[in-house]
Amino acid sequence: MSNSKPAYKRILLKLSGESLLGDLSCGIAVDRAKSIALELKELHDLGIQVAIMIGGGNIFRGIMGTEAGMDRASADYMGLLATVINGIALQDAIEKEGVITRHISAIDIKAVAEPFIRRRVIRHLEKDRIIIFSAGIGSPYFTTDTAAALRALEIKAEVILKATKVDGVYTDDPMKVRTARKFDSISYLNFIKKGLKVMDTTAVSLCKDNNLPIIIFNLRKKGSIKKAVLGEKVGTRIG
Ligand code: UDP
Repeated sequence: MSNSKPAYKRILLKLSGESLLGDLSCGIAVDRAKSIALELKELHDLGIQVAIMIGGGNIFRGIMGTEAGMDRASADYMGLLATVINGIALQDAIEKEGVITRHISAIDIKAVAEPFIRRRVIRHLEKDRIIIFSAGIGSPYFTTDTAAALRALEIKAEVILKATKVDGVYTDDPMKVRTARKFDSISYLNFIKKGLKVMDTTAVSLCKDNNLPIIIFNLRKKGSIKKAVLGEKVGTRIG
């Protein structure tokens, strides 16, 4: 199957901040960034245009601040800046593998990232540069899942691949409920109605309104991203 033709030409990959944790409890494991970069290079070499939305949960999430008494907006801006740090690390790791990238931040931070200009980003993709989006949509009260859905629509990606630490969408949290069952596919509406947590409902709702499929899969299973882009059965498809 590895010689099959990719099922998509342009994808948006949502990588959580936790994907960079490796064995650490907080921060960035450079060897994890390298192994993700190697998988991304494979996609690039298949001719797939790749944009990534990077999360920040390995460093800071707004909720960590609000639970400790911070103002929500201030805490969310800290979370946004955490994603920029991850974006820099990911850019370094991917370029070490010889692939050209562009880091696009939704918050103005010109010394390290370009601003988001939709047409320019599409041009970068056409030139086979991997795009790393950071700082979500640049506003508090959102998550990088929702930002992934928004940017995917703007750049006309054909699918959102959401890499997580579970194998897909389950009836319950598989880390807590032993009898939880995995769905091979689920409709947007059922996902929302069941209140499932693996992807933000705002993001799923945006994808529903615009008919953009989402594939949720386990990043820890090596080669999963490639399988997903080759159209092989992996994780759960929401659509
Ligand atoms: N965030 C935000 N607006 C956005 C995207 C993210 O305020 O558009 C903040 C929010 O505080 C969030 C943090 O950035 O908790 C990190 O993003 P997220 O939790 O989505 O990262 P992940 O869970 O994917 O690592």
